[in-house]
Amino acid sequence: MGTSIKGTIAIVGAGPGGMAAALAAIRLGFNVALFERATEIKAAGNILNLWPPPQKILKLIGVDTEDLGAPCRTFFERHDGKVRAEVILPPEVEREYGGGFIGLLRWGLYKRMVDALPPGVLRLDHTLTGVRDGAGKVHLTFANGQNFEADVLVGADGINSFVRKWLWGDAPIRHQRLHLVGGYLFLDTPPEGRGVIAHNRTTQVSYTPIRHEGKWGYEWWVLEACDPSQPPPGDLLAYSRDRARGFTQRVRDLIDATPVAHLQRWEIRDRPPLKQWSKGRATLVGDAAHPTSPYAAYGAGMSIEDGYFLARELDAVSLSDTEAVRQALQRYEDRRKPHTAQVSQGAYHTGRAFHHMPKALRPVRDWVFDHTPVLQKFVGDAMPGHILSQLAEIEDAPPFETAANRHRVPVRAAP
Ligand SMILES: Cc1cc2nc3c(=O)[nH]c(=O)nc-3n(C[C@H](O)[C@H](O)[C@H](O)COP(=O)(O)OP(=O)(O)OC[C@H]3O[C@@H](n4cnc5c(N)ncnc54)[C@H](O)[C@@H]3O)c2cc1C
Repeated sequence: MGTSIKGTIAIVGAGPGGMAAALAAIRLGFNVALFERATEIKAAGNILNLWPPPQKILKLIGVDTEDLGAPCRTFFERHDGKVRAEVILPPEVEREYGGGFIGLLRWGLYKRMVDALPPGVLRLDHTLTGVRDGAGKVHLTFANGQNFEADVLVGADGINSFVRKWLWGDAPIRHQRLHLVGGYLFLDTPPEGRGVIAHNRTTQVSYTPIRHEGKWGYEWWVLEACDPSQPPPGDLLAYSRDRARGFTQRVRDLIDATPVAHLQRWEIRDRPPLKQWSKGRATLVGDAAHPTSPYAAYGAGMSIEDGYFLARELDAVSLSDTEAVRQALQRYEDRRKPHTAQVSQGAYHTGRAFHHMPKALRPVRDWVFDHTPVLQKFVGDAMPGHILSQLAEIEDAPPFETAANRHRVPVRAAP
């Protein structure tokens, strides 16, 4: 790829955040190099849900979102199926974004994003090992011996970000002492458009419909407190079946029908919000800036949003002007920090409320969830608030695709 007069942006990490930042910046005419340490793009995990704002951005940055996921409305329930709260989005948002929440497999998203990248942008087998900021450029060194010079560095390198460490030093990860087993299965018939997040006194057992490469199905997950010093369960299917006892027949049938190869387990970790993300000509997006517990189902979504908003701020300045770049990066993070901190802290505290409350208080908590509108207020109503405020900030205007030309073939930069 030749050097663009708009300047060069180096993005480290080809997860959802890095790929979204690259696609948005390319659309605005920047020269982009996207570095990834892996030798091929692999989805980190199996199951995924996306809220409307990342769906809107994916369309605007040229990702094919046709039939990307299965739509559903989301309900919080007690283990036996009693509805405690519903995430209610306005009808026009539900219409445009298929119920508001879509379920998909991670690989389905990654593949569509990789396919939208112009040839030559993605550089695999590049592990960032050194950074130097000087003389109006950022100088990068990689484990494979290669070097690169850019006007702006974007750390999209996940929860253990090298760029974050280089900018702000090391800080301990927050182990939430929670773990999650997730699985998926395919069906011959379309599932009903209903996603359920259900809890008993200790455990969450949830499911949503999925769509993946033209196939319908369901994904489900079992989440509870764990002791990280203990070995993980050996048989994930037997473990999940055991924890789903007492939950609805619907979810138990889904777990029973899941192939063992479709199961995966994660320990849940995040970090408290970082006070400052950017310094000089470098900034962070996604989990590098604000790792988020899966309780929000929004970490990948916020990474995609970050990439889009960052590109828009950089579009307004000349990348040769160090002070203008610094100010643009500051504007970007000032816009993103309140939303991302609220979601990631909200997810952390929701996880604590459901899984780390002292035993004696759990019946009281559940009485409150069953007989007062508190869950509706803090989860059912707060989530649509975040969703709508983000949707309003995402401009459906050139140079991004507009509603009228949304389904055309994505622009591809010259190699
Ligand atoms: C069980 C689970 C369920 C989840 N469910 C959802 C959900 O339903 N919805 C949702 O929106 N989010 C969900 N999340 C959160 C979501 O997975 C993350 O927030 C998201 O992957 C972050 O994207 P990212 O691009 O910032 O970072 P990552 O996906 O972590 O990508 C970082 C990339 O950087 C690369 N990299 C790292 N270091 C270097 C280096 N030194 N040099 C070069 N490359 C490097 C890595 O190989 C990787 O490809 C879930 C998370 C978990 C654990």
